Amino acid sequence: MTPEPSPRIHWIVRMNHRNRTGCFAMLFVVLGAHLLDRPQGALVWGALALQFLLGPQLQFWLARRSPRPMKAEFVNMLLDSVAFGAWQAVLGFPLALTVALFIGASVNLTVFRGLRGVGESTGSFALGALLGAWLGGWAGPTEAGGFALVLTAGALLAYVLLVAFTAYTRSVSLHEARQQVRVSERALQRQLDENQILQAQLKDQAQRDALTGVFNRRYLVEALERELAQAQCQGLPLSLMLMDIDHFKRVNDTHGHQVGDEVLRGAAALLGGHVRAGDVVCRYGGEEFLLLLPGMPEAQAVERAERCRRELAERAITVGQAEVRVTLSIGVATFPVHGDSVAGLIECADRALYDAKRQGRDRVVVAMMPAHA
Ligand code: GH3
Ligand code: MG
Ligand code: MG
Repeated sequence: MTPEPSPRIHWIVRMNHRNRTGCFAMLFVVLGAHLLDRPQGALVWGALALQFLLGPQLQFWLARRSPRPMKAEFVNMLLDSVAFGAWQAVLGFPLALTVALFIGASVNLTVFRGLRGVGESTGSFALGALLGAWLGGWAGPTEAGGFALVLTAGALLAYVLLVAFTAYTRSVSLHEARQQVRVSERALQRQLDENQILQAQLKDQAQRDALTGVFNRRYLVEALERELAQAQCQGLPLSLMLMDIDHFKRVNDTHGHQVGDEVLRGAAALLGGHVRAGDVVCRYGGEEFLLLLPGMPEAQAVERAERCRRELAERAITVGQAEVRVTLSIGVATFPVHGDSVAGLIECADRALYDAKRQGRDRVVVAMMPAHA
């Protein structure tokens, strides 16, 4: 199926119609002025009026109805050229009019088809002249009258201006179309940037705990696997601090669940103040947090845990009227001392945390050495 012609093609067909109507009307006047001194029969005048006055409307009608308007326009231009050649042979115009006719036939074709258009218009003009000479005889060049010459010069000038004006309107419309494309491109780019930001935000949200804003457990598992593999690869230590708020149930029971939530936020913020670039704080469970410390050996991790514990114990978290003090029990485990797998390290840290609870809470306990060590 032939696709619908684009609005741009319709625009070209309309522009051709406008130019052809104007140009042919001028040619009719010029040829008429020349023929006034050489009386012609009604047939010649009728045929001239048919081609130069009615022809452009007929050609426009045909091109508009054609499923391929550009092809129809091309055929129209070739037929114009053939007809001009035939008129030239039969009526024998002087040189100035011949040039005007040839320009009328060739400029449009050249505008649309480049050098090929020059060849096509010259060939079809010559073919028309041969056909005209064969059918109606060769009239040979005639003398040009002064009036006809003036009209020819005026018509040529008007035609050149018309072509220039058309070129100008085309370049203006092209420029506007390009501007439009640029504006659309910029809007599209903005949209893409916004989408990218939204995607990044969504990804970040999926990795974070909604209450405290620190990473969630799902992200921790990914991060732990990645960091452990890197630590193994680079031969560096990696420590885990598993922390649980002591007697947190009492906070909820005494102050209410909302205050409990604020205390969890406050504890997460305090832990966030103890991280270096590359460390990962995560909410491991209800009131449990885990701090992942890549590259950190056991002794340093214990020191860090001790600082966190002390700071939380010393600092009261204020929620509205309530001042809440909580303590932390912390279990520390380090790769490669306490294990070399994600599950093994977490288990060691968990056991150390359990020991801290058993020993009275508010303390840091380092994991036991594995039995086989
Ligand atoms: P322990 O020292 O042995 O850890 O005692 P605990 O009271 O801290 O431990 P337990 O496991 O008995 O209680 C934990 C409480 O934490 C129970 C639960 O309601 C509370 N909790 C868990 N998640 C949240 C939360 O998101 N917000 C609040 N406000 N409380 C929570
Ligand atoms: Mg607890
Ligand atoms: Mg707990």
